[in-house]
Amino acid sequence: MSEHNLISISNIKKYYQVGSVVVKALKGVDLKINKNEYVAIMGPSGSGKSTLMNILGCLDTPTDGTYILNGTDVSKLTDDRLAEIRNKEIGFVFQTFNLLPRYTALDNVMLPLIYAGVPKHERIEMAKRALENVGLADRMEHKPNELSGGQRQRVAVARALVNSPSIILADEPTGNLDSKTSVDIMNLFEDIYEQGNTIILVTHEEDIARHARRIIRLLDGMIESDEINPNPTLHQNVVIEEQ
Ligand code: ADP
Ligand code: MG
Repeated sequence: MSEHNLISISNIKKYYQVGSVVVKALKGVDLKINKNEYVAIMGPSGSGKSTLMNILGCLDTPTDGTYILNGTDVSKLTDDRLAEIRNKEIGFVFQTFNLLPRYTALDNVMLPLIYAGVPKHERIEMAKRALENVGLADRMEHKPNELSGGQRQRVAVARALVNSPSIILADEPTGNLDSKTSVDIMNLFEDIYEQGNTIILVTHEEDIARHARRIIRLLDGMIESDEINPNPTLHQNVVIEEQ
């Protein structure tokens, strides 16, 4: 029953009309994801990963099929309603961090709480806790250009988590990081997973995907395989040199 799944997607199709051509980006995808799963989505360029993530993250709606998120059918909502659900249910982590350069780490993390209408004194407390949770208690007043790449991504993870969303969606979260810093961020994702969160990440790197407990491969707009990872990579030791 769909009530038991955090995500229940049935026969989702997404078609884009480009001039007179119809691009079939997703051709009938079925997917169920439970609370506290850790899923990696892989697949070659053009296979539909971003299209699927956009739908999962309530940034877009499917052309056909249904998407039940946390008990709500979000497949045919208006943009306003979709944005409401997105702000409540989804935390995004992007390859490029997407932090506001003029804002401190604390202000960046508080942004989703402003959209959610949380009173100021609570916002500050929640954002501080989120930054402490990602190990940045001593960097709250720093601006993005005063932080390392790994620290910036930690701020982005804190921002994604600050209003306790149902799902963390991460699109190539280590794509702009060197290999040591990538390990550091994947350790952080492991902590977040162990805290009970649900994580879905897109990556083209097998080493990154191996951290997930389940690996889904897309090919040409369809699920090619959907397998449990029998031997996930857990915490790895890494020494990050800080300036
Ligand atoms: P991936 O993220 O796996 O590289 P995408 O989901 O971005 O794949 O793209 C899947 C297919 O849909 C591709 O053929 C791509 O060209 C097409 N596509 C993606 N977004 C759009 C769009 N906004 N308009 C038209 N075609 C699109
Ligand atoms: Mg993509």
